[in-house]
Amino acid sequence: MSELNPIPADDGTAVGGVHIKYLVHCPRQLWLYARGYRPEQRSDLVAFGEVVDETTFARRRDVDLGEAKIDWVTTGAVVHETKSSRAPAPAHSAQVRHYCLLLERRGIAVRGGIVHYPLVRRTVDVAWDDEARIAAEAAEDDARAVIAAPSPPPRLLRSGCRGCSYLDYCWGE
Ligand code: SF4
Repeated sequence: MSELNPIPADDGTAVGGVHIKYLVHCPRQLWLYARGYRPEQRSDLVAFGEVVDETTFARRRDVDLGEAKIDWVTTGAVVHETKSSRAPAPAHSAQVRHYCLLLERRGIAVRGGIVHYPLVRRTVDVAWDDEARIAAEAAEDDARAVIAAPSPPPRLLRSGCRGCSYLDYCWGE
């Protein structure tokens, strides 16, 4: 088990896409991540995802916003995110909505987003409208609240932890 930083690694203001993804998947994962616990850096699943990400699209350009690194943005400001999983998840769409929010705050007229699942040759459209903006802002507030909490949120039910790179920490495996 790694030592955790007593103080969140984040300054409480910069909420990135990974923060939102973890928030939606499991608030405890976000809390741990914000304190510098990063088992995903050595996770085979994550490494596999990075390989899929690097080899799927030959021509693309990352967009680095500082607090978030977007896979790429195409003409008309459509945000693209690639996932190595086979099943779409709410966390993926929430991550894309957060990127839309960050881009819009920089004055970009965002059209929406697309999550790509190359292993199953699927895409999921992510709308960007008033409802999506409200959801993205609420998720950002929720993420800040989780990060600022003095103690970690409870674990998910064991069945919800399948494939999570934080299993070691949470369940001692
Ligand atoms: S192992 Fe389960 S409880 Fe722990 S961070 Fe992952 S999903 Fe959350």
